[in-house]
Amino acid sequence: MKKYKIALIKGDGIGPEIVDEAVKVLDAVASCSDFSFSYEEALMGGCAYDIAGDPLPKETINIALNSDAVLFGAIGGEKWDTLPREMRPESGLLRFRKELGVYANLRPAVVYDELINASSLKASVVKGVDLMVVRELIGGIYFGEPKGRTADKGWNTMVYTRDEIVRIAHQAFKIAMQRSKRVCSVDKANVLDVSQLWRDTVIEVAKEYPEVELSHMYVDNAAMQLIRDPRQFDVMLTGNIFGDILSDEASMLSGSIGLLPSASVGAKIGVYEPIHGSAPDIAGQGIANPIATIASASMMLRYGLDEIAAAKKIDDAIKKALSEGYRTQDLAQFDAKEVCSTSEMGSIIANY
Ligand code: ATP
Ligand code: MG
Repeated sequence: MKKYKIALIKGDGIGPEIVDEAVKVLDAVASCSDFSFSYEEALMGGCAYDIAGDPLPKETINIALNSDAVLFGAIGGEKWDTLPREMRPESGLLRFRKELGVYANLRPAVVYDELINASSLKASVVKGVDLMVVRELIGGIYFGEPKGRTADKGWNTMVYTRDEIVRIAHQAFKIAMQRSKRVCSVDKANVLDVSQLWRDTVIEVAKEYPEVELSHMYVDNAAMQLIRDPRQFDVMLTGNIFGDILSDEASMLSGSIGLLPSASVGAKIGVYEPIHGSAPDIAGQGIANPIATIASASMMLRYGLDEIAAAKKIDDAIKKALSEGYRTQDLAQFDAKEVCSTSEMGSIIANY
């Protein structure tokens, strides 16, 4: 029997509560599959700073590198906001991603029919949205040289090499092959030289995926089209800064921040985490929505461990819980049969 080693980084705020529910669901799936999980916990974020004096202790990196995948909760909180920048929880996470070399960030945005069928349809939620932003994560303007500032000048450089574009494009096309086989590559090729290289390179890579339909969109138009008709998109392929903005925009299509997962992949070990933060305002109350983290565990099975049937089981269980009217407090705006706690929602999904 296969045994996967999962590094659990629960983090701060609601992190521990939501990761515990994802583990519950993973164990339930394993109990009816031909694999099992073992878990090792590691510290990151504010809790790591408090205990070890470092938001990313060396041991955490070792535990991650020694695992098959990392399931991550959330980090940060006001308590640590006044620390010097390199001691803040968020800088630990950035360093962590760099250490692992995960260069592709996958952010699905889904509108669950199961949520809106039962409800007095919220105007901002569009039925049938199911898209995935594939964002380059460790290049582009956030990292390009030269960069700097003086008293009256500041500058950053958007740099992409051909190799960086090739590898992220492959990720997007491979994911499209598992979905509706459409890739929309986002750039600003009418203005930026770097975008012209981006576009030419994506067109080249596309030749290896003849079944996938490739289109191109300028980023300003893409931002508009996401609002006008988000159903037109399957996979959106973007550079770092464009993806940062568009994936946040897309996440708002789905109704609650507590629903959406993400994956950072491309290296040997991937990191799977909800898109939301540590939500200190609701931590410890047992009311956080665990679905984003449970869906992240599903992405871990699908993209990290290649256990696609098991991932589907989790996705179906989430839909079933929603269609039967179970809602955590953040979703109570959608007619709730019953408002349930974090751990009730986890158990309901685990028990299907
Ligand atoms: P970060 O800087 O880490 O992104 P943030 O404060 O910007 O943190 P979140 O922590 O994501 O953002 O929280 C934003 C709001 O959404 C908060 O009011 C929080 O309570 C709510 N929220 C976030 N995650 C959840 C969840 N899983 N369930 C319910 N509410 C949530
Ligand atoms: Mg935020």
